Amino acid sequence: MEVLRDKASMRAWSRAQRADGRRVGFVPTMGALHEGHLTLVREALARADRVVVSVYVNPSQFGPNEDLDRYPRDEGGDLAKLEELGVHAAFFPADLYDGEGQAPTATSSGRQLAWVEVEQLGLHLCGPSRPGFFRGIATVVTKLFHIVEPDVACFGQKDYQQLTIIRRLVSDLDFGIEIVGVPTVREADGLAASSRNLRLSAEDRVRARAVPASLELVSSLVASGDRDADALLARARALLESGGARVDYVALVDTEKLAPVHHVSGRVLVAVAAWFGDVRLIDSREIVAG
Ligand code: AMP
Repeated sequence: MEVLRDKASMRAWSRAQRADGRRVGFVPTMGALHEGHLTLVREALARADRVVVSVYVNPSQFGPNEDLDRYPRDEGGDLAKLEELGVHAAFFPADLYDGEGQAPTATSSGRQLAWVEVEQLGLHLCGPSRPGFFRGIATVVTKLFHIVEPDVACFGQKDYQQLTIIRRLVSDLDFGIEIVGVPTVREADGLAASSRNLRLSAEDRVRARAVPASLELVSSLVASGDRDADALLARARALLESGGARVDYVALVDTEKLAPVHHVSGRVLVAVAAWFGDVRLIDSREIVAG
C-alpha cells in the first residue's frame, strides 16, 4: 500500500492508474476507522481496480465549539486496517491548505475565498445546529475529488444528509463520478458504528441505544398504520428523553429535499441527532409507508 501525504503525489498516482486503464475507487474518511468505514472500503474494492482511502479531519466542517480537537485520531491503527483489507493507497494530506495553520473552519474562512454550497439541502436536520458544516463538507469533498480524480466514490447512508448533498453536488456540477451509498453498519446492540462512540462513557454507551430504538419505534408505528408525523415524532422524542438523551432534532423528512413532512406517505426518512454528555450522535432510517 502506498502512503501519500501531498496533493501532487496523490494526483500523479491516480493519473498513472487511470492511464493504465484502471478504475479508481475512493473512500474519504476522517479516520479512527471502524467497521462502517471498512464496509465502504470493501464496497469500493468490489467496484474498482485500485482503491484510495483518504484520512483527513476536516477543520472546515467544525464550528468553534465543536469537537475538532477531541476528534479521535489513530494513524497507525488506520494504516494497519487499510493494509489488511488490500487498499492500494492511503492519502493523509498534509498540504490541503497553504500550511495547516491556514485551514478554514466552518465559521471562519481564513484565506479560503472559494466555497462550494449546495442550496436547500442543508436547511433542515443538521443544518440549523451546525452553521457552515455542509459548506465545509461540500468544499473539502470537491477538493479531494479534484485531487484523487476517482471514477467511483463510496459514502455511508449513516450520514444521509451528507450523502444527499454530495449526490446533488456531483450531478449539478457534472463531476462525472459515480456515487455509491452504503447501508449503515451497526454494532451488535443496534447503535450505528461511529468514531464518536469511542468518546461515550460506559453509561452513555448504554443510553445511546435509545437512538436506533427510536428509529425502530417510528418504523414499526408507521408499519402499523400511524401516519401523523407530529404524533410519531412525539413518541420518538419521549423514548429518547426517557433514556437520558438531549435531543437536537428528531424529524420525518422527504428523501429528496429533506424537508419536513406532516403526513407520512411513500418513502420518508426518520432522522435523529441527540447528545449524550458532550457527544452528539446522529442516525436515520428510510421508511416506506405501504
Ligand atoms: P467519517 O470518517 O465519519 O467522516 O465517515 C467517513 C465515511 O464513512 C462517510 O461516508 C460516512 O457516512 C461513512 N460511515 C461512517 N459511519 C458509518 C456506518 N456506521 N455505516 C456506514 N458508513 C459509515
